[in-house]
Amino acid sequence: MSAEGMILPKVIEAARILSHEAPIAGVDILTLAAPQIAQTALPGQFVQVSVPVSGGFLRRPLGIAEVSRTDGWIRLIYRQVGRGTEALAGATAGADVSVLGPLGRGFDTALNHPLLVGGGMGLTPLLFFAAAHPNVSVLMGGRTKEEVFWEEIYRPHVRECFITTDDGSYGTQGFVTTLLPELLKGGTYDGVAVCGPPVMMERVAGIASEYGIPCEVSLEKRMACGLGACLSCAVDTKSGRRKVCKDGPVFPAGEVYYAS
Ligand SMILES: Cc1cc2nc3c(=O)[nH]c(=O)nc-3n(C[C@H](O)[C@H](O)[C@H](O)COP(=O)(O)OP(=O)(O)OC[C@H]3O[C@@H](n4cnc5c(N)ncnc54)[C@H](O)[C@@H]3O)c2cc1C
Repeated sequence: MSAEGMILPKVIEAARILSHEAPIAGVDILTLAAPQIAQTALPGQFVQVSVPVSGGFLRRPLGIAEVSRTDGWIRLIYRQVGRGTEALAGATAGADVSVLGPLGRGFDTALNHPLLVGGGMGLTPLLFFAAAHPNVSVLMGGRTKEEVFWEEIYRPHVRECFITTDDGSYGTQGFVTTLLPELLKGGTYDGVAVCGPPVMMERVAGIASEYGIPCEVSLEKRMACGLGACLSCAVDTKSGRRKVCKDGPVFPAGEVYYAS
């Protein structure tokens, strides 16, 4: 179902931490009981999560990685990069965090066979897309084998899983852009969804455009309210100024200035 144009209710839930695990050092998988958000969230949307007081008072935006509508939970996967995410990493199962969501505009999932392209934590919002679509493949890149721990998480949801590592310790040596032209030239895919570092998204978008395949990118920008009011996440696009939190985080690849 396409998220385009849909108006979804946003709620604040006091979400109980069901589990909090670390697949590799510095990365955490947080599963939260949040039945209302789980019910309406769409792939590519995000939540604003409160962090313990040592992390400051602003909520932090995190992509929704998985949901269970029946069991009423959502799953977030995040890297500890600063005081907010480090404080959140200290929260243990049984504690409550306040979660605002679901927020933003997600991916267009109305495709026959999309190719998801992700690097690092960019694989988080794409995981929800993979789980929600019956016929999807993924191309994932990481610096080392350890960084593509995602393979195990994605496998149950995808037809094919293509992997690159910068150092060649696993999969094809190189970047996702090393493999992408080969994958797209077969005409198998009718859309590309990408999330990762801006330089990666720009190059993936360029290659998709060369092959005439529609591409969407998910942007990350520092933000405060997450609701379109504070304008702290505003970016210039080819169709004017847009708020990443409300008009995005997913945008058509051709609309975005990647250097901004
Ligand atoms: C819509 C959206 C979805 C996101 N989803 C995820 C996710 O699923 N998993 C995940 O690990 N991270 C995600 N992020 C990034 C995450 O929000 C930041 O890493 C987090 O807010 C940093 O907070 P902090 O207090 O730990 O770090 P800070 O101390 O605030 O910053 C530490 C470093 O991270 C950089 N940074 C902080 N916030 C952002 C941001 N929003 N975008 C880019 N760089 C930032 C800072 O410039 C600084 O270099 C997402 C961001 C957005 C906007």
